[in-house]
Amino acid sequence: MRLVTFRRGRGQPKLGAVWREAVLDLLGLYKELRAQRGELRRGRGTFPADMLALIQGGDATVGQVREAWEYGRGLVDQQAIDALAQRRVAYPLKRVRLLAPLPAPARNIFCLGRNYAEHAAERGAPPPEHPVYFTKPGTAVVGPGDDVVQHAVTRELDYEVELAVVIGRAGRDIGRAEALGHVFGYTVINDVTARDLQKRHQQWFKGKSLDTFCPMGPVLVTADELPDPQALGISLRVNGQTRQESHTSKMIFPVAQCIEVLSQGMTVLPGDVIATGTPDGVGAATGVFLKPGDRLEAEVEGIGVLSNRVARP
Ligand code: MN
Repeated sequence: MRLVTFRRGRGQPKLGAVWREAVLDLLGLYKELRAQRGELRRGRGTFPADMLALIQGGDATVGQVREAWEYGRGLVDQQAIDALAQRRVAYPLKRVRLLAPLPAPARNIFCLGRNYAEHAAERGAPPPEHPVYFTKPGTAVVGPGDDVVQHAVTRELDYEVELAVVIGRAGRDIGRAEALGHVFGYTVINDVTARDLQKRHQQWFKGKSLDTFCPMGPVLVTADELPDPQALGISLRVNGQTRQESHTSKMIFPVAQCIEVLSQGMTVLPGDVIATGTPDGVGAATGVFLKPGDRLEAEVEGIGVLSNRVARP
């Protein structure tokens, strides 16, 4: 499933899934299914309220959502989208606004530093012997189409396209062979960074944690649809010009190892997000930083394009 969090007009954020050129309204579909079976209930019952609740609910909520998704796919394939929109079960993709798929992760977002050899080299660092972890706060998360704000405190605004892993099943001391079984799905993160703050404050947290510095999306692809996270092209464009172009097979520490090592002696939780590091081509390597008006397109094969514009505060 290509899961999304979306909004129509000024309505509340809703749980959806992209199918062809439509967004399925999963709660609307679930209610319609129940009504057809004579299982009428008021409200949403046990249906998850948002993406985090879906992930935390495990097999039970994923089962409800998958049932709604299968029903919705059939409707979109067979019926006119306008009629489905009137029934509030599916809408044209163009007429909804996609938000970050997981707008409020379980806690800080875990990130890998220097996880591609060419990127470590362009930053003047040797490839690490062990995964380098740091975090970004969930408050930095924004969605597709949202602005990345160039706050007054930085003059060296930079981009980093990354494959992001969303944990589905809690665990500690997870073995490498079992690690991908703990993954709920994958999305794209742009690990926006203020290079001057990164240098000034030494530790990476501050320079990577300003508001809007974590664009995420456009969809959260469930792990069953991306069985090999090391087989994906990854790229980033600024104003249509390619700046980063690589492949996830080039990660120094593949996704399974990132999870294995992170979970040593430390429980990972459903809804945890791990951004797996960026390939070479960042602005800091050439001294060409972002400016207001720049259009960013971060892309991972099989997931999609995450577009954002740089804006003044
Ligand atoms: Mn990064």
